[in-house]
Amino acid sequence: EPPAERFEYQAEVNRLMDLIVNSLYSNKEVFLRELISNASDALDKLRFLSVTEPDLLKGGGDLDIRIQTDKDNGIIHIIDSGIGMTRQELVDCLGTIAQSGTAKFSKLLKDSKDAGGDNNLIGQFGVGFYSAFLVADRVVVSTKSPKSDKQYVWQGEANASSYTIQEETDPEKLIPRGTRLSLYLKRDDKGFAVPERIQKLVKNYSQFVSFPIYTWQEKGYTKEVEVDEDPAESKKDEENEKTEVPKKKTKTVVEKYWDWELANETQPIWLRNPKEVNTEDYNEFYKKTFNEYLDPLASSHFTTEGEVEFRSILVFISDDFDGELFPRYLSFVKGVVDSNDLPLNVSREILQESRIVRIMRKRLVRKAFDMILGISMSEDRADYDKFFENFGKHLKLGCIEDRENHKRIAPLLRFFSSQSEDVMISLDEYLENMKPEQKGIYYIASDSVESASNTPFLEKLLEKDLEVLYLVDPIDEVAIQNLESYKEKKFLDISKEDLDLGDKNEEKEKEIKQEYGQTCDWIKKRLGDKVASVQISNRLSSSPCVLVSGKFGWSANMERLMKAQTV
Ligand code: ADP
Ligand code: MG
Repeated sequence: EPPAERFEYQAEVNRLMDLIVNSLYSNKEVFLRELISNASDALDKLRFLSVTEPDLLKGGGDLDIRIQTDKDNGIIHIIDSGIGMTRQELVDCLGTIAQSGTAKFSKLLKDSKDAGGDNNLIGQFGVGFYSAFLVADRVVVSTKSPKSDKQYVWQGEANASSYTIQEETDPEKLIPRGTRLSLYLKRDDKGFAVPERIQKLVKNYSQFVSFPIYTWQEKGYTKEVEVDEDPAESKKDEENEKTEVPKKKTKTVVEKYWDWELANETQPIWLRNPKEVNTEDYNEFYKKTFNEYLDPLASSHFTTEGEVEFRSILVFISDDFDGELFPRYLSFVKGVVDSNDLPLNVSREILQESRIVRIMRKRLVRKAFDMILGISMSEDRADYDKFFENFGKHLKLGCIEDRENHKRIAPLLRFFSSQSEDVMISLDEYLENMKPEQKGIYYIASDSVESASNTPFLEKLLEKDLEVLYLVDPIDEVAIQNLESYKEKKFLDISKEDLDLGDKNEEKEKEIKQEYGQTCDWIKKRLGDKVASVQISNRLSSSPCVLVSGKFGWSANMERLMKAQTV
């Protein structure tokens, strides 16, 4: 047997192992997720490289992960047929802090310590290979890279400052390619070496690994076996009826055997039948895929066929969804789109011009709106209130940026009104409450519900019991002006000079104009350029006068906003 070479760990690794073991103590089962994720990475690397070097796959094309437990001795073997490691890679990868997972973890650990520390949160981060030492006091990695003709064994122990590497000589352990990792469990952790436990952990933690994960399971089937009859009894039979064939007795026994059993669902979630996927699955998928900690608010899973075929899952909530498939203002929706109709290598420019992309975009946007509409129809009004509070601004931006979807966006908007100062209402609710003779949807833009409700413009309308929307979000007014109308009812700014409440009395107006014409001229002269004109109005009931905006000018609110922007 060739001698084992001994190596010292990088100092950081030593410290890191300590940190891992101490900070993750309560959640040590994450070790399995980490090791499976490494196996899956190794398979991914192989699959990727084999595209240009098909020879890498010789010696067996199956790409899978197998987990075998030895209950009596407290050992778990995790075997993958991935890319494996050369001797040098063993030194580089398992003797130093890997750039990604482990390095990230130590930074996170530090940040989280600075922030008061939350072990549970840490448990959700990648801690890498060394998490094996959460449960094992000895780890043996036997690995064969297609780049090397030799298979090497790495051995390390918990709390040790060095590890060894030697050539694999045990013929039973030789593998054509990949890695066989054996965990010799600590005394208190031997309970992990049970097939059912492993199966359950795989289901919990490694749902979205795209390679099959098999566990070595004991199985049984029942079978009927013939047993010899009681000789005394058969003799008796023979005596009675000599011609009859002696009766045979059967007995049901359980035959036990061991076999590999698939533990995960390898089909990507979006390829599965939506009927077979539950909310929990979507939530997990969302969190895993997008590195999120909170569940999404809603999700949508659909397939479209026909012109362009694709399947998609949209899940909700904040952050960027960059790309041509989805408009910017819906950036709080995240998703996966899978289609064979999309070319693999495309530039952004091509993507922008592609007809396929345009069709997809259209459908995706429609689905996103269906999903939002679904939330808005929830029995619990608070669901949508919460949504609107967070993403209402995005929808309003959509009114400005996406004329094509006005019909979908408008029903989702919510506003306070003169008749609903505490609860926001929808435009449909407004329409229901309209007076039969009412010409349009009245609104006043202001900086708060309170100042809106105190404006003199409201007087006449309140007197006539007409509802007025309060646009109190700075973006509201521009959004409404872009919509122009809702279900054929025009939006009417009650602060504009041409507001017609349908109660014009021409005779009387003429009379009054004659009477006060000179007064108006006098006021205009005094104010000069400060006002465009001074007119007699029928808009007021208790205030003596009001400043209104010109028909074509900005509203007072807009002017205020624009001033605020230019200062
Ligand atoms: P990370 O996976 O974030 O890189 P790990 O600590 O989990 O960090 O793993 C360190 C490195 O060890 C990996 O990047 C990989 O190169 C190597 N490695 C670990 N497990 C395997 C495996 N089963 N097959 C091949 N390489 C592996
Ligand atoms: Mg890893």
